[in-house]
Amino acid sequence: MDSRLDVVISRMNVARKRFTTPSDDVALIAVTKTFDAPDILPLLEAGQRRFGENRVQEAKGKWPALQTQFSDIELHLIGPLQSNKVRDAVALFDVIESVDREKLALALQKEMALTGRNLRVFVQVNIGGEAQKAGVPIDDTIEFVVKCRDEYGLDVAGLMCIPPAGEAPGPYFALLATLAKKAGVVGLSMGMSGDFETAIAMGATQVRVGSALFGARTVPT
Ligand SMILES: *Cc1c(COP(=O)(O)O)cnc(C)c1O
Repeated sequence: MDSRLDVVISRMNVARKRFTTPSDDVALIAVTKTFDAPDILPLLEAGQRRFGENRVQEAKGKWPALQTQFSDIELHLIGPLQSNKVRDAVALFDVIESVDREKLALALQKEMALTGRNLRVFVQVNIGGEAQKAGVPIDDTIEFVVKCRDEYGLDVAGLMCIPPAGEAPGPYFALLATLAKKAGVVGLSMGMSGDFETAIAMGATQVRVGSALFGARTVPT
């Protein structure tokens, strides 16, 4: 039992029942950046198995030991990936959610071929068209998904986005859902602690929740 985990799961269930067909499954990715094993273990013991980290280096410091202890962990990279970290990322993670350029798609293809590991990926979309944010431009999304799939042979599970801060996220989530449909992918990674119920209303297949599970982060990320 972990009380914050129970609260988040029950809020997800209420949102699912209210907005989509109750049989739809929404995966919870517990975002553990800045938190270490003592905070993570209670969730593992409560049965949570999907986790997200935004930095390869930080994840390397804590997850290998936990992966040895719990063999069925599914680890998601949800932050930007530099090409020179692709080797470490492919070795450590199970899902890469931040594919947003061809150079990275190519590097992932090569490393997966080399290691025989076949990770699922999400294409990150710069859904608010913000200059400082990662992600492919909205207008390039469909073409990029097709390229990732057909040219680079990547297993594209869906699209991921982080809407602009301080704006109502609903329209951005709806736009991501529309883009996914057009691109022919089903996965929608959207929704964080502040807006996961809205994201579920718009069809999220997975939400990435950190502070609602672990409390506020004291370290900047
Ligand atoms: C930190 C982070 C989250 C979780 O944010 P919370 O507001 O703590 O739930 C989700 N997605 C990404 C990409 C993040 O970096």
